[in-house]
Amino acid sequence: MTTFGTESNPLRVAIIGAGPAGFYAAEHLFKQKELVIQVDMYDRLPTPFGLVRNGVAPDHQKIKSVTKVFDRTAGNSGFRFFGYVDLGQDISVEDLKNHYHQVIYTTGAQTDRNLNIPGIDLQGSHAATEFVAWYNGHPDYRHCEFDLSQESVAVIGVGNVAVDVCRILCRTPEELAVTDIADYALEALRESKVKDVYMLGRRGVAQAAFTAPEVKELGEMEDADVVVLEEEVQLSPLSQASMADADRGTTRKVEIVQSFAGRPLTGKSRRLHLRFLVSPVELIGDEAGQVKSMKLVKNELYRTDAGSLRPRATDQYDEIPVGLVFRSIGYQGVPLEGVPFNVSWGVIQNQAGRVIDPETKEHLVGQYAAGWIKRGPSGVIGTNKPDAAETVDLMLADAAAEKVNMPAHPEPDAIERLLEERKPDYFSYADWQKLDDLETAAGEAQGRPRVKFVSIEEMLEARGINN
Ligand code: NAP
Repeated sequence: MTTFGTESNPLRVAIIGAGPAGFYAAEHLFKQKELVIQVDMYDRLPTPFGLVRNGVAPDHQKIKSVTKVFDRTAGNSGFRFFGYVDLGQDISVEDLKNHYHQVIYTTGAQTDRNLNIPGIDLQGSHAATEFVAWYNGHPDYRHCEFDLSQESVAVIGVGNVAVDVCRILCRTPEELAVTDIADYALEALRESKVKDVYMLGRRGVAQAAFTAPEVKELGEMEDADVVVLEEEVQLSPLSQASMADADRGTTRKVEIVQSFAGRPLTGKSRRLHLRFLVSPVELIGDEAGQVKSMKLVKNELYRTDAGSLRPRATDQYDEIPVGLVFRSIGYQGVPLEGVPFNVSWGVIQNQAGRVIDPETKEHLVGQYAAGWIKRGPSGVIGTNKPDAAETVDLMLADAAAEKVNMPAHPEPDAIERLLEERKPDYFSYADWQKLDDLETAAGEAQGRPRVKFVSIEEMLEARGINN
């Protein structure tokens, strides 16, 4: 007889990470009607929504409206939020095993992939992920400094994050002032002297990771001309051949970028240069250790045995003067103490979402992963919905087969008592909603979607319980 999943003994699930994957997992859990399920969602920040709050660009508000769906999930009577609780610091995996039948890790990819070239650590060279977190008001990044007095900036990579960074650097203060960008970032960008931004792709336009609507937007900015070199976007015979199987999105983005090539400069204050088939090989610094230029090698494409088109360096070099560099070559997951991790892939060791022992490949009963920490940093927010559903379906199958962890203290009060001891100033969903109301009210007064709290101290104070 099942001893859990009933009114008197609900299936108790902990979700670690309140980003899209976490919320989609909770939504999918609540959709099933067989078992009574209670979900406790944790986040190390007081605020939920992960990259929707701290990653999605402030001038892309429509994408953020997905939080309405997450709010509905949070409204379920079986849902609780424990914000400002850090797994590893405030509670451990052992604590989770003591209180829950199942745990899902949805911690995303919290750092960036590094680029191993000489000079990458010079002053003025940064991870794009830090810039993104900074302009979005992530409390851990609000003290970052970026030298926006530089006139020329390079962004390495041509994914949608690189596109976001280029757009934010090229927007006018007026365009940014109506968004929820952090106030300090708005002030810094208001004083920006940036004139030329170079977005650098190591392969051709047909292989670029950005998507068509995102690159189209680059050609529609109020005060930035987009510059593309004709010779870099004409498809080589190899690329041309690959277009035969290309999807509509790829065809469209090639057309869009090629259409930029013929455009005259219109005298706008900034120029955004989209460069292809170039790889940075070195950042060159001045005597003070500040980056002053970037050496690039021109690439050609070759076809691998597996059929993909990869870049290969030629003997032709180029140098661009740049005083600020952002590497935007992908996010990277970070390990959680006590959870098996695949270092080379930057993900939790898992099979379709079941966390596995790296040696035996056996499922660690009761442990699951979803989202970027399960599959790596790819796809848009919505991609996490089917991904989370895949994990949750396995959880439900395991629960039906009674393959769950049997916690010593499944009662909902037990974990609250532990948190009262370990982290008494944790944030509930009601606490977050109070912050949300205050942020949106402050935004309304300024004609903006919200004015964000950007430090934990401000959040604690605004909530009104300052332990
Ligand atoms: P991404 O899409 O994986 O792009 C990474 C870029 O870095 C690619 O252009 C890649 O080139 C390049 N790169 C990797 N290693 C490199 C190296 N050693 N030298 C030079 N270039 C290198 O990653 P992302 O931009 O961080 O985005 C992460 C995910 O979030 C993506 O799925 C993205 O679509 C999504 N996102 C979506 C939006 C939106 O929908 N508006 C906004 C932001 C992010 P290669 O292709 O040659 O490897």
